[in-house]
Amino acid sequence: MTTLTRADWEQRAKSIQIETRAFVHGEYTSAVSGETFDCVSPIDGRVLGKVASCDLADAELAVKDARATFESGVWSRLAPVKRKAVMIRFADLIDAHAEELALLETLDMGKPISDSLSVDVPSASRAIRWSGEAIDKIYDEVAATPHNELGLVTREPVGVVAAIVPWNFPLLMTCWKLGPALSTGNSVVLKPSEKSPLTAIRLAQLAIEAGIPAGVLNVLPGFGHTVGKALALHMDVDTLVFTGSTKIAKQLMIYAGESNMKRVWLEAGGKSPNIVFADAPDLKAAAEAAAGAIAFNQGEVCTAGSRLLVENSIKERFVPMVVEAIKAWKPGNPLDPATNVGALVDTTQMNNVLSYIQAGHDDGAKLVAGGKRVLEETGGTYVEPTIFDGVNNAMRIAKEEIFGPVLSVIGFDTEDEAVAIANDTVYGLAAAVWTSNLSRAHLVGKALRAGSVWINQYDGGDMTAPFGGFKQSGNGRDKSLHAFDKYTELKATWIKL
Ligand code: NAD
Ligand code: MN
Repeated sequence: MTTLTRADWEQRAKSIQIETRAFVHGEYTSAVSGETFDCVSPIDGRVLGKVASCDLADAELAVKDARATFESGVWSRLAPVKRKAVMIRFADLIDAHAEELALLETLDMGKPISDSLSVDVPSASRAIRWSGEAIDKIYDEVAATPHNELGLVTREPVGVVAAIVPWNFPLLMTCWKLGPALSTGNSVVLKPSEKSPLTAIRLAQLAIEAGIPAGVLNVLPGFGHTVGKALALHMDVDTLVFTGSTKIAKQLMIYAGESNMKRVWLEAGGKSPNIVFADAPDLKAAAEAAAGAIAFNQGEVCTAGSRLLVENSIKERFVPMVVEAIKAWKPGNPLDPATNVGALVDTTQMNNVLSYIQAGHDDGAKLVAGGKRVLEETGGTYVEPTIFDGVNNAMRIAKEEIFGPVLSVIGFDTEDEAVAIANDTVYGLAAAVWTSNLSRAHLVGKALRAGSVWINQYDGGDMTAPFGGFKQSGNGRDKSLHAFDKYTELKATWIKL
C-alpha cells in the first residue's frame, strides 16, 4: 500500500508540522492557563512538542460552545441525508491524509507504521463512513396504538457528548465514538489521552474542512485528573463515553452520580481467554493466532489474548509451537515498514510491564520466551514478546490486565474446567475457542461471559458487529447500529386524535 522506506518516514518525521493546541469553535487555541505538557515519542524519547494542557476553564468554554452549537440546530437539526454527506467527506479526508495521520500516531505512541497505515487509519475512516452512511437509513417507530390515538417512538440526539479516549488506538477509539455521536447530531467535546493527543488534534481541522460546523467537535488535550475530571463532573454534559481502564471507568460512574447523572458508557479492560482444545482444526494456525493475539500492537490491546488455555493432552506439543510462532514478532523501530512490534507507549507503561514479568517469576511461572527490555540504546521503550508457561489462574499475571506483550499459558483437562477458568475473571471483553466440534464451539461460546466470542480465529468482526464488554469490561457497545443507542434518547409522543 505504501512504497515509503524507513528513511522516507524518518525524513518526514523530521519535517512534519505538528499542531499541539486545543481546538474550540473551529480554531486552534492555547489552554486558558497557557500551560503545556511535553509530548514524548516512545520511539527514541524525543520531545515532539509542547501540547496545550487543558483544565476546568477550557472544559467550561468548550462545553458552553458545544451546547450553543447544539441548540442552534446548525448540525443537530440538519437533515440526516446532509449530515451523511458531511460524514462521508470527513471519512474521505481521513483517507486523503492517511500517511500524515499514520505518522503522527506512530511517533506519538510507538506502534508500527505498517499497522498505523493498514489498520488504524482505514478502520478509523471506515467507522466514520459507516456511521454516516447509516444515518439516513434508520427509521423511528409508531407504537401499536388504538384507532383514536397515535404513539410515536422517536430518537433524538442527547445533546453534548464528552468523549474520553485511551492511547492504544488513539485515532480508532476516537472514531468509534465520533462516527455515531456526530452522525446522530450531537456536539462533542473530545479528550484524547495525554499520552497520544496528536491525531485527535489534527482530526479536528479535517472535520471543519469536511463541513462539520465549528463547535460541533471541540478537542481538549490534557490530563485525566484535570480536564477529564472536569468534563466528567460537568453539569451540562449529557452523555459521557469512555474507553480506558476499569479503574477510571468506575471513577467516572461516581463523577456522574455526584454531578448531573449524565449517561456513562464505558469500554474498559480485559483479560481475554484464548481456549485451544485438542480437536482444534489446525494447531499451527491456532499457535500463530495465539502469538499474534499477545504481540500485535505490543500487547496494548483491550482484547489481547493474554490467557492461553490449552488442553493438557496437547500442551507439551502446542506450547513450543507458540514459542516458535512468536519469534516472528520482533521489536524494532516503528518507522521501519518491516517492523511488527513497536515501542510501548511510555516509560511508565514499560516499567509496569517489566514489573509483571518479575511477578511471573516471583509467583513461580516458567518463562519460555522473551522476558526482557530490548533496544535500550535507542532511548525508546521496547519489551520482547514474553510467554510464561505453568501459570495458574490465581497468579497476578493471569488475573490482572498487563496491557503489554506478556502471555500466560494455563492447562486444563475438561470442557467444564476450561469454561470455569475462562470465566474466573472480573473482566468479560472477549474470548476465543478452537475446536472442530460444532456443538462444543456453540456450547462453550454460549457459556463464555464475554462481549465477543471468536471461533477458530482470534479478533474477528468489523464495523457491522457490536463491540464491548460483560462484567467489569464495561457497558454499552461501540460499532454497529447498536452503538447509536448511546448517543440518542428515546422519546414517546402520544397524540389524541
Ligand atoms: P486510562 O483509564 O488510564 O485512561 C483513559 C482516559 O481516561 C485517558 O484519556 C485519561 O486521561 C482519562 N482519565 C484518567 N483519569 C481520569 C479521571 N480521573 N477523570 C477523567 N478522565 C480520566 O486508560 P489508558 O491507560 O489510556 O488505556 C488503557 C486501558 O484502556 C486498558 O485498560 C484497556 O483495556 C482499555 N481499552 C479498552 C477498550 C475497549 O474497547 N473496551 C479499547 C482500548 C483500550
Ligand atoms: Mn505520546
